[in-house]
Amino acid sequence: MTKRDVLVMVPPLPPQMAQLEETYAVHRYDLAEDKAAFLAEHGPHCEAVATNGHEALTREQLEHLPNVKIVACSSAGYEYIDVDALTEKGIPFTNTSDALSDDVADCAVMLTLATRRHLVQGHAYVQTGEWGRQGMYPLTSAIKGKKAGIAGFGTIGKAIARRFEPMGLEIGYLARSKKDVPYRFFDDVVALADWADILVAIVPGGPETEGMIDARVCEALGPEGTFINVARGSVVNEQDLIAALSSGKLGSAGLDVYLNEPNPDPALTSLPNVTLYPHHASGTVETRDAMAQLVVDNIAACFAGKPLLTPVNDVAPARA
Ligand code: NAP
Repeated sequence: MTKRDVLVMVPPLPPQMAQLEETYAVHRYDLAEDKAAFLAEHGPHCEAVATNGHEALTREQLEHLPNVKIVACSSAGYEYIDVDALTEKGIPFTNTSDALSDDVADCAVMLTLATRRHLVQGHAYVQTGEWGRQGMYPLTSAIKGKKAGIAGFGTIGKAIARRFEPMGLEIGYLARSKKDVPYRFFDDVVALADWADILVAIVPGGPETEGMIDARVCEALGPEGTFINVARGSVVNEQDLIAALSSGKLGSAGLDVYLNEPNPDPALTSLPNVTLYPHHASGTVETRDAMAQLVVDNIAACFAGKPLLTPVNDVAPARA
């Protein structure tokens, strides 16, 4: 039986890549030197695309993929993929938000605790012997009783709220529409920052949210406030964040994502009041495995004419 053709724009992990190679005729766009020529040659007979949200998939590229029945993305964010164009063309699109939401929410909690309770500074205080020389480390601020603003209240924002609530944090959130939850709704990020002690960004990247966290937000959060970013570097005006953290207008920040990855601005990373993580919120063996498997399983479901496991757009798979 002839194998169906699958375009691999970004490969999943090796075990899942092996599954794709066993089942399909795989075309490695990721390895092609002349990607435009490769797409023009192999795109027309491909029936599925395996990718992630950091790789662009434009309307123009889709012109070379007339037979694609599914685009399976192995990340939660997909701001470089033209999902509107996919929907218009009747192509289902899947992501992996459900598989990674717990790990990313854990990371938001980890950065919140580490930043507010000075984990990194305390570690250095013990390791360098400062504790013995200087005595007790300065007091920090309690988590319980503070207000946490969650900017973005989708799959991951809700998972963060589920963790914050039993920690004794009062929760407010920002989204495009009000949800049926017992938390305070804000439709303005400055108002949310003004209300909150801790502001967590977990909105999608892309033009709509670009630079959302700016000088006004930092100043509204204030000298005792903490900004946590597990969303995308693009949602922050980084120069405004650096200025606010340097001047003390914003107290501290815990960051997993940056504008310039993997070499973020040293003016940001050298500040004493930041806690840094290398865009690794979903970086556990279990979650990365589940994310990669979803790519394989969504493609298989689509070809079998079955419901997709993690659909994003409202397009049912075409019958095989
Ligand atoms: P989601 O379920 O689509 O939720 C997104 C939330 O953001 C929704 O509540 C949405 O509001 C809100 N939103 C979107 N645009 C907005 C705007 N312009 N203003 C205010 N709110 C807006 O997405 P998710 O799965 O939770 O993931 C969120 C993002 O996290 C991803 O897109 C990705 O960029 C990032 N992420 C980062 C990591 C990491 O490694 N650090 C890992 C996974 C994901 P409505 O509900 O009203 O539509």
